[in-house]
Amino acid sequence: MPAGLIPPASLLTRRSALLGGLGLLALPVAGQAATPAPSGVWPKALQVPGGIARLSLGPSTVRPVARQGHVPLLVLGDVVGWTALVGIPLSAEPGEAAITVQAPEGGERQLAYLIEAKRYSEQRLTVAPRTVDLSPEDQARYEGERAHLETVMATFSEPWPHLPSLRMQVPVPGRRSSSFGLRRVFNGQARNPHSGMDIAAGTGTKVAAPLPGRVIDTGDYFFNGQTVWLDHGGGLLSMYCHLSAIDAQTGDVLKTGERLGAVGATGRVTGPHLHWGVMLNRAMVDPALFLAA
Ligand code: ZN
Repeated sequence: MPAGLIPPASLLTRRSALLGGLGLLALPVAGQAATPAPSGVWPKALQVPGGIARLSLGPSTVRPVARQGHVPLLVLGDVVGWTALVGIPLSAEPGEAAITVQAPEGGERQLAYLIEAKRYSEQRLTVAPRTVDLSPEDQARYEGERAHLETVMATFSEPWPHLPSLRMQVPVPGRRSSSFGLRRVFNGQARNPHSGMDIAAGTGTKVAAPLPGRVIDTGDYFFNGQTVWLDHGGGLLSMYCHLSAIDAQTGDVLKTGERLGAVGATGRVTGPHLHWGVMLNRAMVDPALFLAA
């Protein structure tokens, strides 16, 4: 099933480790979005860890600049009204959070928003120890890849003004799991939560771009296997893992529906499927928020 970016437990935050130690088979609680998104708007707002806040910035003759900490945010809209989209990391603490909005004249203001709690399910697995404890060689490989992926994930290009909507097309037809956010404990050790959507499909099934995007990275990684990353502008990125074939090159610009590769079982997986990740301001968010119901 899921691979994703799975750092060893030693790299987890204390909070993740604590969450990983909580009870078995917790059922997810429906998220309470503070402001429900208007229908027909994508992505949907869901102010929980792993969700997205849509924060109104008001009218302005120029696109406002907004950031979460030092990370620039995707700001969409026009002179009548601008909206900052804020990806909320799965590791975020529920409670009040804030973004920084820069005025064109140079001043700054804080804009607060509320992150509601959401309890994701937990999965406890007992597996062969070598699949949990990496050999020194594998650990070194993983750490090198992680450093490279940090630079990929920091990509921020200008928002694509011609995109009419950020509603995405499903990259592969197939059964979609609802395992985003699943907390995983292997042999009693907490791992990072599952940060994407798994779609079941046979090896060789076409994987298509869900939105126009520029290919910013391709490679064969220890956990994620053959992987393609797309940049959709404004810090909105998407990743496609465990591919059996990569059919695009870094620098290619793909249209919605254009082939980027094929479903496979490369990397740390037990069977063929697509692991699809969507990242906003460097936070992995639930891809389902970008899909029609
Ligand atoms: Zn997965």
